[in-house]
Amino acid sequence: MIKAHGYATHHSFSRLKLLDFEREEAGPRELEIDVLFCGVCHSDVHQAKNEWSNTVYPCMPGHEVVGKVRKVGPGVTRFKVGDVVGVGCMIDSCRVCAPCKAGDENYCEGPNSWLATYNGPMVSAEMAPTKKNMYGRDNTYGGYSDVLVVKEDFALRIPDALKPEVAAPILCAGVTTYSPMKHWKVAPGQKVGIIGFGGLGNLAAKIAKAMGAQVTVFTTTEEKLDEAKRLGVDGVKEDDKKALAALKLSFDFMLSTIPEKHNVNPFIALLKRDCTLTVVGALEPLSPVNNQEVAFHRKSVAGSLIGSLADTQEVLDFCAKHGIGPDIEIISIQEVNDAYKKIEDGDVRFRYVIDMASLKTESAT
Ligand code: NDP
Ligand code: ZN
Repeated sequence: MIKAHGYATHHSFSRLKLLDFEREEAGPRELEIDVLFCGVCHSDVHQAKNEWSNTVYPCMPGHEVVGKVRKVGPGVTRFKVGDVVGVGCMIDSCRVCAPCKAGDENYCEGPNSWLATYNGPMVSAEMAPTKKNMYGRDNTYGGYSDVLVVKEDFALRIPDALKPEVAAPILCAGVTTYSPMKHWKVAPGQKVGIIGFGGLGNLAAKIAKAMGAQVTVFTTTEEKLDEAKRLGVDGVKEDDKKALAALKLSFDFMLSTIPEKHNVNPFIALLKRDCTLTVVGALEPLSPVNNQEVAFHRKSVAGSLIGSLADTQEVLDFCAKHGIGPDIEIISIQEVNDAYKKIEDGDVRFRYVIDMASLKTESAT
């Protein structure tokens, strides 16, 4: 076993704090990684606070992980010690269902779906269960830790052109927005609307622009209109009825990253005939969709969940090629509770990334 340290929370209402724990050593086709940086996704906040009613405690979030390989199992072929690698939201999947076989591991239909990097049951035979959770298995601990063990198939290559701290958010925020834009075939010259200009929205706007689209971000925050200008995209306040009216039936694709239940109808009205609004932010029931608007112009409202391993590698390479990445603020692990509060208050520009070197000052053992 490996001695490991990380930040976890024991209740929905308590703060994250240092937890000493053990990880299984790398199996034959697994890597042991020293975590360098970990992005803070709004999903981490939802999960730590049990907002999806499925959290197993202790909960150690972190699924935007970049680290350096320190050990490889004897069967590893794709990576070597010293490589900088990424780990996103998944660390395994059933591998035999139709979606897995088609390379859509993120839509795995196996008995436990894909294995989440944190708050997931450990289904690997190589990892003997010690503590039981609701699935009768161990709970996975994510990237707010000094070391991670991952199957080489679920590790991503970080291109040299990307700094590790900049690459980290691409592993969730990047692929979650890239994958639907690829699926719904965003193309040069199209008009793309990004709703909610936070961690996902910031990367989505840059990716859509790099795809050649004409991008508009929709925001509730006046000051972010300047941020949009800085990125070279249009910005519209969501309560600006006049601006919304002028944009009716004009968008080829829209992506909502709003992190809670919201009214999608004002945005559906902005779609062109036959076009799609994809909701990735709210993983919960939405306000009722006005099917009159949908039916009259044969529009679609869709959802999308993270992205496949192939899409994750693709978006990392895409960002490296186009010289884009998220706007980040580096924090120490000791600042993570304050960061959660600021994320909930919308007070982040645009993604916190934890420098995991900060953990060493507390975990000398
Ligand atoms: P952030 O908090 O960084 O950004 C969300 C933005 O949405 C805010 O900055 C704010 O932007 C806007 N917003 C917040 N609350 C409201 C509200 N009540 N009404 C309207 N707009 C609001 O979150 P992330 O970008 O990290 O994540 C967004 C959501 O996506 C989360 O719920 C997360 O769990 C989910 N997610 C889903 C994934 C999937 O696979 N489907 C994967 C990853 C994340 P502004 O100031 O511009 O209004
Ligand atoms: Zn995430």
